[in-house]
Amino acid sequence: MKHFIIALVIIVCSAQVSARQNKPDRPKLVVGVVIDQMRYDYLYRFHDRYGDDGFKRLLSHGFSCENTEINYIPTFTAPGHACIYTGSVPAIHGIAGNDWIDNETCTSVYCVEDTSVTALAGAGKAGLMSPRNLLSSTIADELKLATNFRSKVFGISLKDRGAVIPAGHLGNGAYWYDDASGTLISSSYYGRELPQWLVNFNNQKQSDSFIRQDWNTLYPIATYTQSSPDDNRYEGTYKGEQRPVFPHKGNTQGKFSHLRRIPAGNTYTLNAARACIEGELLGADAITDFLAVSLSTTDYIGHQFGPNAVEIEDMYLRLDSDLAAFITYLDKKVGEGQYLLFLTADHGGAHNAQFLRDNNLPGGSASQPRLAQEISKLLHTDFPLRQSKGADLLVAVSNDQVYLNEEAILANGYELKQIKARIKHLVERQPEIAYVLDMSETGNAAIPEKIKKMAINGYNRLRSGQLFIIYHPGWYAGYSPTGTTHGTWHPYDAHIPLLWYGWKLPKGTANRTIHMEDIAATLAALLRIQMPNGCIGEVISEVVNK
Ligand code: ZN
Ligand code: ZN
Ligand code: ZN
Repeated sequence: MKHFIIALVIIVCSAQVSARQNKPDRPKLVVGVVIDQMRYDYLYRFHDRYGDDGFKRLLSHGFSCENTEINYIPTFTAPGHACIYTGSVPAIHGIAGNDWIDNETCTSVYCVEDTSVTALAGAGKAGLMSPRNLLSSTIADELKLATNFRSKVFGISLKDRGAVIPAGHLGNGAYWYDDASGTLISSSYYGRELPQWLVNFNNQKQSDSFIRQDWNTLYPIATYTQSSPDDNRYEGTYKGEQRPVFPHKGNTQGKFSHLRRIPAGNTYTLNAARACIEGELLGADAITDFLAVSLSTTDYIGHQFGPNAVEIEDMYLRLDSDLAAFITYLDKKVGEGQYLLFLTADHGGAHNAQFLRDNNLPGGSASQPRLAQEISKLLHTDFPLRQSKGADLLVAVSNDQVYLNEEAILANGYELKQIKARIKHLVERQPEIAYVLDMSETGNAAIPEKIKKMAINGYNRLRSGQLFIIYHPGWYAGYSPTGTTHGTWHPYDAHIPLLWYGWKLPKGTANRTIHMEDIAATLAALLRIQMPNGCIGEVISEVVNK
């Protein structure tokens, strides 16, 4: 009997221990930081002059997935944010571009536009946004479902799409920047009015003082060894500037959009993130909250100057110290080890095309409008409209895709297949183009498996063009001879940083190929919740297994 009791006690005790081990242990707060257009190499390119508490702290005390790749094209902001937070690709989550053509109506749609909502706090059209075009749940939505809606979820960014998509369908709030008022705004999708903490933040008018400040380099300009000389022909200028050189004058006319294009735009966004944490008591109790921050200034400045500019180097040094301050703040406010932070990018960016050519590297800038003109000319000659007043057969060349009006093609008695073949023949003769993919037969195309997979993942039947244009390396669809852009499959656009930090996460690095869609799958595993409902990612086991 005595032995039996002892055995029973042992069984009961060990059951309790294992029950305790199985209990989902979660951080108080998850913070997602997306740095718009941050190339992977920026982690190391400017490493020498980063401080100890920003990027370097994440690298040395966190876990870095060194080879994280985007697994679809086009590599733009809205699909990037959608992929990070849904663990899925445009074919499934539906965010096929920043804008796309709806193939049923042949009209252009903006990724987060929603005319059924109203703007809050007197904002105009800029406030008419919601996540309704997103076809999948996000990781934050799943967290909400897992906690019976008790988790609080917020998205903050200068860009509407950078705030709305990450906050998901169930977000308590998404706030983005309004150029007209220089304040953060929102829509009725999230409630009837702005929360008081945001009204207070807006009343501080931080944007007004930031835009007036001149932007000079943090250190003497001669010490910036990682960049081209300040004055060169690859960089764009601010309005009113003769040359793209420091000091860049502040805007004294109260043009609030200027905040997007100065490093203080990052400072402002992170200040708003703190105000949100304070105002909403994020991470203050045992129920996990989620804050998604997207820093957009990096993209605007990247587009204006290109990766080799002193302006980029200086911006990243400033961002590094902003990040250090933000992480230190999280340590104090939420507690060291109590929050989980991940940092990544929605895409990278190419070197300026002229810079590449001047340095004997392949590359160049292609023009989508010119291509559209040539395709249009071909169609008018070879496939004339047989119906008067009928719609054009070509809808647009956009997102490196050719959108055709299938209904009009049918109504005019033509065959879609024949038209696609003629366009493909014409476009593939352009010197900048490697391939044109007919998306109905991509599976059979004689192209590398990797590009094929990225095209198929990026192709949404209702929202993508019937033909995908694949450029040669170094080429992009440019709208300016200065600065740069992104959107292609190439590593400079598709290789992104991915850092995990805090809570119970391990330190270290992984060098195997990891995909952007693995981020949400890994978060689901860490939080022990369901993956988002369109998720195709795999768990990064190195981050989950300690
Ligand atoms: Zn972006
Ligand atoms: Zn410059
Ligand atoms: Zn961009």
